[in-house]
Amino acid sequence: MTMKNLQVIALMDCDSFFVSCEQLDNPDLKNKPVCVLGNNDGCVISRSKEAKAMGVKMGMPYFMAKKEFPNAIYISSRYQRYVDISKNIMAFLMTFSPTIEQYSIDEAFIDLTGLRRLYRRSYVEIARMIRTEILNKIGIPVSIGISTTKTLAKLASNKAKKTDGVHIIGYRAIKSELQNTELADIWGIGKNTAALMAKYGIKTAYEFSQQSDEWLRPKLGIRGVQMREELCGNSVFKVNNSKILPKSIQNTRSFANFTSNKNYIKNSLIYHINNSCFRLRELGLKAGCVKVVLRTKDFRYFVEKKLFVSPTDWDTDVVQTVIPLFEKIYNKNEIYRSSGIVLENLIKSEDLQMSLFSNSDKETKKEYLSQCIDKLTRRFKKNIVKIGYAESPKND
Ligand SMILES: [Mg+2]
Repeated sequence: MTMKNLQVIALMDCDSFFVSCEQLDNPDLKNKPVCVLGNNDGCVISRSKEAKAMGVKMGMPYFMAKKEFPNAIYISSRYQRYVDISKNIMAFLMTFSPTIEQYSIDEAFIDLTGLRRLYRRSYVEIARMIRTEILNKIGIPVSIGISTTKTLAKLASNKAKKTDGVHIIGYRAIKSELQNTELADIWGIGKNTAALMAKYGIKTAYEFSQQSDEWLRPKLGIRGVQMREELCGNSVFKVNNSKILPKSIQNTRSFANFTSNKNYIKNSLIYHINNSCFRLRELGLKAGCVKVVLRTKDFRYFVEKKLFVSPTDWDTDVVQTVIPLFEKIYNKNEIYRSSGIVLENLIKSEDLQMSLFSNSDKETKKEYLSQCIDKLTRRFKKNIVKIGYAESPKND
């Protein structure tokens, strides 16, 4: 394969990460059906391959799993331990490439462009070397996907999990890989986008990759065009180890129909909050301020904002602040066309000193729960797990 002038991007993804950490600390757990529980032991958040084969599902409530699969081993999670192991893995990756971007607790993009010459090995051989060394030196099994864009590397890593741990999608193999992949299985394509595209008869990632700018733009905006480029092998999303941080995070959406329904609008705000907080945590940020925006049918704006007592990335904190603001600006005699949430005064979580009055145990729990939710959200596409009572807004 040729990758001249192209980016070479790898995605490393730890296999059953939380379970692998437990097996590292307790080798008796190896080759057994092990499940790690999250959310105060409420549900299964990581499964060994034996547990998967048994039929235990991701996110399954503990009481259900225990009843259906009494022979599996269930363990409470030790989040701080997983964070420490994750840090070791990330630090180790940096010894291979100066450009790595941690994407989640157990995933990182690695820019391998040009390293073939340095290591005098093919990209596949480099990936195998990284994989072997992480297993030998840290003790965690990982899968690595390689391709020319982040989106394709992510796809390759899914395939790597089903094969021998390393999978490459070279430039010439893109077409056949995409023909065998449903659009909904592409990283970054949400369920709504997939459903919309299906209405136009576009089912596979390949069909999507064949659409023109003119066709994509009005339906999906610039993001649609970027996704197509990524699928065609042209890297748009760079591996970014010095992230340029946004000034604000906004989530706004027009309602399917104009409405005055208070609960409906309130639910739409909670939905925006869930999405915004997920994004915050993904970027490792906390927000100092929230703004609620309601826009009426005739395009008048109503805005209220408030500072948080201490910066937060936690849905419940934001909801508690937003509801009174919403009550202030909502008027039952108005007809609304859209609602929005804007998070501002963003600050890196790691730069944030824990405030004097914050209860650190509570903070740790929040952080841990957020991570579980984000993991599930990523795995099952958006919004499968919600904090509180949010529902995806549907017009009634
Ligand atoms: Mg993983």
